[in-house]
Amino acid sequence: MLTCDAVDRLENKMILDAIGIGAGPTNLSVAALSKKVSELRVALIEQKPCVRWHDGMLLPEARLQVNMLKDLVTLVDPTSRYSFVSFLHTKGRLLQFINADFKRVMRAEFDQYLRWVAEELGCITYGQEVREVSYDGLFRIRTDDRSWRTRNIVLGVGKSPTIPEAFRSIRDASVFHSADYRENGHRCKGRRVCVVGGGQSGAEIVNNLLSENNVRPSAISWISRRSNFRPLEESCFTDEFYTPSFSRYFFVQNAERREVILRDLHLSSDGISTSLLRELYQKLYWLRHMGGEPMGVELLPGCEVRKVSRGSGAWQLECNGANAARANVVADIVVLAAGYGFAPPAFLQPIADRLIVEHGTIIVDKDYSAIWRVPTRGNIYALNTTSFQWGAADPNLSLLSWRSAAVVNSLAGRSVYRLREGDQLIDWQPQDAELEPRMVSA
Ligand SMILES: Cc1cc2nc3c(=O)[nH]c(=O)nc-3n(C[C@H](O)[C@H](O)[C@H](O)COP(=O)(O)OP(=O)(O)OC[C@H]3O[C@@H](n4cnc5c(N)ncnc54)[C@H](O)[C@@H]3O)c2cc1C
Repeated sequence: MLTCDAVDRLENKMILDAIGIGAGPTNLSVAALSKKVSELRVALIEQKPCVRWHDGMLLPEARLQVNMLKDLVTLVDPTSRYSFVSFLHTKGRLLQFINADFKRVMRAEFDQYLRWVAEELGCITYGQEVREVSYDGLFRIRTDDRSWRTRNIVLGVGKSPTIPEAFRSIRDASVFHSADYRENGHRCKGRRVCVVGGGQSGAEIVNNLLSENNVRPSAISWISRRSNFRPLEESCFTDEFYTPSFSRYFFVQNAERREVILRDLHLSSDGISTSLLRELYQKLYWLRHMGGEPMGVELLPGCEVRKVSRGSGAWQLECNGANAARANVVADIVVLAAGYGFAPPAFLQPIADRLIVEHGTIIVDKDYSAIWRVPTRGNIYALNTTSFQWGAADPNLSLLSWRSAAVVNSLAGRSVYRLREGDQLIDWQPQDAELEPRMVSA
């Protein structure tokens, strides 16, 4: 593996084996696991000045929604020096961490961990937004002022904030996505705030508005399309859906069946953690019955915002749904906690005719490499883009290291990491050798 300086010096002269676009958990995991393969030269390009993990939502109370062992490496290589435990040890806080007895790791600490791995890897070029990927037998990646040549690309650009239809034409600082909450939260102080979205982010924001003095609004309306503020489905049996064997099982189902499964599993990834729901309920109970400063809190599940207009110096939100009769909301500030979606990045346009895109995602093979429409040497691996093919585990951390290991095996052309553990309690399907990831040469 090259150091960052070396990558910078050689970028235009040397052809790398793989370049990861984006330095979020996905590509950090690929880069960390690729260290085991001495002949692989891998580098990452990141648009931000350093690694930050969803920094707009790094709230003090926010917790990781998966076990800390589902870090960048541990599932496939528990001896790796890039594990979360190794980070705690290196920072001299392992014992204190154990004594603190956190049920779930703080997201802020996981963010620190990711930055530590990034520094240790030393193969990331920051502050470069990829603008174009082209192909002439090799891939060329171009940013505004630099370019790189590589045999393979690993796409780890994450997802983009979803703006609900009714808000798409609005450009105003008083309407913002939850992804930008940390820098805009101060706008909420003393104002009427409407939070649109009844998932984990919406709940974290309402909790923050109720807890922190420097953002405390005069009133909160919380709108969700769902019939109630629904809990994340969390149980050991639900976790069986987040195993490699279930992902393999999902991969070989037909499209109709996959849609049915995804609908069925929705609340196993998109609900609100039970502990947060309880905390919120108790805070609302306190507000209503035990005094404190008065604050109107309006809970509006079963509602969808249909139309937004500006009147009397405020936003007027017309909603319909189960609670429509009482859901005309007036707000000074609107926070859109409406989730994230994937669309093939515009920088792939020059090679778009080589890719197969269905259901808005790039269709990939068993090793996560894009299936080519026309013969092409080398691969583009697309990670965290393919729930439609790989199931509910695809966008989250649960199987992150397993996915990355499949990519590293494919790049190395051999089984560097063992992927077929007896990892599940439920036998989703008989073992099937044909489902081993396809190997290609680097
Ligand atoms: C607030 C929040 C909390 C979450 N918490 C959890 C959790 O607790 N557990 C869990 O399992 N999942 C969680 N998730 C899901 C999350 O998607 C994954 O945890 C993880 O961040 C996915 O990693 P990624 O690297 O694919 O994408 P990202 O983390 O989004 O990283 C993508 C990176 O690519 C960079 N990039 C994008 N475009 C370009 C470009 N053109 N050029 C260069 N760089 C580019 C971005 O700047 C970014 O750094 C959470 C998601 C959110 C939004």
